Amino acid sequence: METLEFQAEARQLLQLMVHSIYSNKDIFLRELISNASDALDKLRLAKLQDGLEADTSDLHIEIEADTEARTLTVRDNGIGMTRDEVVELIGTIAKSGTAELLTKLKEAKESPELIGQFGVGFYSTFMVADKVTLVTRKAGTEGHGTRWESEGAGTYTIDDAPDVPIGTTITLHLRPKDEDDALYDYTDEWKIKEIVKRYSDFISFPIRKGDEVLNSQKALWARPRSEVTDEEYHQFYRHISHDWTDPLEIINMKAEGTFEYEALLFIPSRAPHDLFQRDARRGLQLFVKRVFIMDDSKELIPDYLRFVKGVVDAADLSLNISREILQQDRHIQMIRRRLVKKVLSTIKDLMSSNPEKYATFWREFGRAVKEGLLSEPDNHKPILEIASFATTHGSEPTTLAAYVERMKEGQEEIYFLTGESRSQVENSPHMEAFQAEGYEVLILTDPVDEIWVDAVPEWDGKKLRSIARGAVDLKKDEEEKEPEGDFGPLLGFLKEKLDERVKEVRLSHRLTTSAACLVSDADDITPALEKMYRAMGQEGPRVKRILELNPNHPLVTGLRAAHERGAEDAALPDTAELLYGTALLAEGGDLDDPARFAKLLADRLAQTV
Ligand code: ADP
Repeated sequence: METLEFQAEARQLLQLMVHSIYSNKDIFLRELISNASDALDKLRLAKLQDGLEADTSDLHIEIEADTEARTLTVRDNGIGMTRDEVVELIGTIAKSGTAELLTKLKEAKESPELIGQFGVGFYSTFMVADKVTLVTRKAGTEGHGTRWESEGAGTYTIDDAPDVPIGTTITLHLRPKDEDDALYDYTDEWKIKEIVKRYSDFISFPIRKGDEVLNSQKALWARPRSEVTDEEYHQFYRHISHDWTDPLEIINMKAEGTFEYEALLFIPSRAPHDLFQRDARRGLQLFVKRVFIMDDSKELIPDYLRFVKGVVDAADLSLNISREILQQDRHIQMIRRRLVKKVLSTIKDLMSSNPEKYATFWREFGRAVKEGLLSEPDNHKPILEIASFATTHGSEPTTLAAYVERMKEGQEEIYFLTGESRSQVENSPHMEAFQAEGYEVLILTDPVDEIWVDAVPEWDGKKLRSIARGAVDLKKDEEEKEPEGDFGPLLGFLKEKLDERVKEVRLSHRLTTSAACLVSDADDITPALEKMYRAMGQEGPRVKRILELNPNHPLVTGLRAAHERGAEDAALPDTAELLYGTALLAEGGDLDDPARFAKLLADRLAQTV
């Protein structure tokens, strides 16, 4: 027998379980049954796909309770585990992001949602037991099995176990009941039945206690919606998603005819912590005629809808279908298109039927959905229809349709400005004339916004237009404008002095209070995008921008006067640099040489005190 230590993170998690930060302890049984059900699925699949020799004629889960000995046993005749697998799967937490979540958990104390995100599974047994024994033998192996035991502290023991059947048996040595602490008598027949009925009724294998089968085993997606309670859907959602919170929306689909399938999809009500991590689990579960085939089937749902959970049961696929075949299967592609259409139209319906739910959806998943504007040009329209954006028109996000309805007379384009935060965008010099003239501007602050705006030229016949790009002319009245001619020599001088940094210097029609700002040429990439490319390790040429001056600003008129008095004035080049640097800072940009800028500014200030 060997005594081993839990990995540090596993130890922390166990601690949390033992000190039961979690008020609903009943769920430990759901977790054990869920694991057992997965193990049965895996055994059936190994036989089907890998030709493993195994008896799958009576796959089931068995519960035994001993009131005297205060033990509860859950047994399955599924795939089982090897000794190495027990050490790896039960002794460690391999999942990414767990460390991060643990820290959060400790801060949050009572936070079932966070635990739900873990799928703490097996460890939840230590909420109700002071000792847990697991005996298992892997299908396809000969001889002895493995016995694992722990009291939930820092260590566990592991040993060979002779005469063990295929599958896994988990025995909980229950703590004394303490109903004040929601710790019930889990050997009680009624309690067990209640928990199974509530959390595990849909499990497709029989859950037996003695001669009795405790669950109905009905595949939820095959039952008419009217016959299934929300509670049943929610428990099923938890089983497949490991998410504690109830889903925001449930979608049923059924197609008959040449290619039959049923789907049951869930839109979660909160984004998982790893929504933007590459290695996160995504995709749907694929079944063929009620038989589980695979998890995380990415072929069924595009990446930008990766948060959608659920099951697709296709009647006409082969049980042996592999991932490679799946990728090319025409029917799968067709299902995928239909699922996308259905998810998008469900969200669209929510916008009018339940604006609050829609707002939650967009807050949680909008950033992911917008990636679809890049990957699925065919779906620009339905995606933009369900999108909403922060705007200078009030604090609530707006749809594009609502924006267009509010457009000013004569306005032909949809204006937006990208940036890192709302306040940075709102206070950007580019915004001045738009605000002064009462034009609404969309405020786009997600990193993906920088990219999709280039991929989507227009919406509803209106061009999408960055107000930090190209020339802007909001004043229709020519009389009000400064003649460029008077500024000609100054503009030429500045262009020469700032030649390395700007491609043009011109008068601006977009400034009301600032002296200067920088704009990108209509076809050039923006500095934010340039920065993103550089962050990804792609070194491109630096794109020069255009310096625009406010002809009504005293600094600019003063500069013109100084330049007229004498172009040789030694202070002028420094002023040019200060002007450029201030424009860059005002939009939240980064100076090339901040120390030099600070010195120029200090010297100049010193002359005024
Ligand atoms: P999760 O189920 O979320 O992966 P658990 O801690 O509950 O996390 O289980 C860890 C792993 O241990 C499972 O993914 C599975 O591989 C294995 N395991 C747990 N219970 C069983 C079982 N009854 N039969 C076979 N393997 C199991």
